[in-house]
Amino acid sequence: MTASVIDGKAFAATVRSKVAAHVARLKTDHNITPGLAVVLVGEDPASQVYVRSKGKMTVEVGMKSFEHKLDVETSETDLLALIDTLNNDPEVHGILVQLPLPDHLDSDLVINSIDPAKDVDGFHISNVGLLGTGQKSMVPCTPLGCLMMLRDHHGSLSGKNAVVIGRSNIVGKPMAQLLLNDSCTVTIAHSRTADLPGVVRQADIVVAAVGRPEMVPGDWIKPGATVIDVGINRIERDGKNKLVGDVDYASCAEVAGAITPVPGGVGPMTIACLLANTVTACSRANGLVEPEGLTA
Ligand code: NDP
Repeated sequence: MTASVIDGKAFAATVRSKVAAHVARLKTDHNITPGLAVVLVGEDPASQVYVRSKGKMTVEVGMKSFEHKLDVETSETDLLALIDTLNNDPEVHGILVQLPLPDHLDSDLVINSIDPAKDVDGFHISNVGLLGTGQKSMVPCTPLGCLMMLRDHHGSLSGKNAVVIGRSNIVGKPMAQLLLNDSCTVTIAHSRTADLPGVVRQADIVVAAVGRPEMVPGDWIKPGATVIDVGINRIERDGKNKLVGDVDYASCAEVAGAITPVPGGVGPMTIACLLANTVTACSRANGLVEPEGLTA
């Protein structure tokens, strides 16, 4: 079998155009423009690239973008004061603090100081609890993007065996929770899992979020399974810098029914879902109908 390719780049463009259509309706019908504030502390080059492309895409879908670039030595008090200002700013509907933060700042404290209704990354402890109890919440962008692609490919996910490899708070755990909420039978695997190949072979859906280049080979995959590769790993191959996922694409694509590539799979969906979360937050804040197909 040769897997069909789940084109995250094309799907993300569709999500962004749905967001743009909803933003246009909010403007014309209610005179409201959704706004996203992104806070970056320090000058980490990868974070700067992410923040720049988030700002650009925010504007492209018709929303307001507010960028706050703070010095690497910014104190916790000053950062918390900025978040308080953004929490109370009616033009700001979504707040994202770019992680990782410098070591002297307590990430949990900072994230939990964001108004949960504006927490478009879905990392606030209230949103984690709401998701865990199946209530309406802001959902972390990367797992939300994976869920959208899976729903689009399969329709109903009910009854499917899903294995999520990785148990981080930002990808693995919320991914597992979303799949459970969609009535999958979910296994969360991690570095201490016994017989990982045997566990993965049971899966109709495999989500790999590990951070180890090409760790999952094709002979771990059940024929016809759907493989979602969250990993983003830079490697040197044949003297060239290359981006690869957590699954060995060539061998997995021979066995799987469908697979996401790296790049061009989960990655583009993450920013699209950040925009989706912002327009959702704005609609909820104003007591208006939520955009269809852009939430969990
Ligand atoms: P973390 O490092 O926080 O978590 C990695 C997880 O993988 C841990 O739970 C760890 O287990 C598990 N793990 C490590 N080694 C093994 C192993 N040999 N076998 C089984 N499990 C293992 O990573 P993140 O969740 O933050 O990110 C995962 C990947 O996804 C990275 O490549 C990252 O770059 C990428 N990513 C991509 C995004 C996108 O937009 N596409 C967004 C976010 C992340 P344990 O808990 O036991 O240590």
